[in-house]
Amino acid sequence: MPEYGYIVDSHCHLNYKGLREDEAGVIERARAAGVGCMLAINTKLKEYDEVRIIAEKYDDVFGTVGIHPHEAENEPDVAVQELIKRAAHPKIVGIGETGLDYYYDNAPRDMQKVNFCAHISAARETGLPVIVHTRDADDDCIKMLSDEMAKGDFKGVIHCFTASQRLADACLEMGLYISISGIATFKSARDLQETVKTLPMDRLLVETDSPFLAPVPHRGKTCEPAFVMNTAEFVADLKGVSFAELQEATTANFFRLFDKITPPKLAGKAA
Ligand SMILES: [Zn+2]
Ligand SMILES: [Zn+2]
Repeated sequence: MPEYGYIVDSHCHLNYKGLREDEAGVIERARAAGVGCMLAINTKLKEYDEVRIIAEKYDDVFGTVGIHPHEAENEPDVAVQELIKRAAHPKIVGIGETGLDYYYDNAPRDMQKVNFCAHISAARETGLPVIVHTRDADDDCIKMLSDEMAKGDFKGVIHCFTASQRLADACLEMGLYISISGIATFKSARDLQETVKTLPMDRLLVETDSPFLAPVPHRGKTCEPAFVMNTAEFVADLKGVSFAELQEATTANFFRLFDKITPPKLAGKAA
């Protein structure tokens, strides 16, 4: 197994307010902290170019194409080919984020489902992983993922995982990965912490979901990719492994899943 010597932030929104004003600084601080690769997640097709341009600018930043469930009404009924076309770019390595959010219900659920299906089709056709956002939608999410999986294999990750043990188990069974955000470090996240302890080391990713969800001890600040280190340290403690072990495992998992990427060299402190 290769030695990476760095961590990956598997989910951040570098084009969002809070990060975009100091893009170069955000990336520099991440590198200096030991983050060797960042995945910039697209949430609206009309912002795809913003994500693509950031990914083109930095060797250690990659991007995705997708429509967040919150945007399913603004960008309804996306054509699979529209996703596939944009995913052909060399720095675009995943499909999403997509999924179901019944907590906010910002878009009608049937519209969320239609877009979710289209993203899964694009993932299946391109062989790229789908990045799944699911909140308060365990039953429908499990059902849609398993129905779609029965039609033909695809790869993917449940990002910012906060769902039930049942959803985690079902997704692991389907071969999907699970990404843990700063929420796991919150005092209130007891159930999530118990679930994290059960996740196999070879299916685990870490992320910031920045600019949101700054982990302890940064709560209240704008989250940025450098803070993925705090989440990784916390998860290592939870799982009773060393930081180095957690880092190497999650980084190897990321590149196994996002296999369009040639792993970059750490551009920060360790030249
Ligand atoms: Zn999300
Ligand atoms: Zn996100």
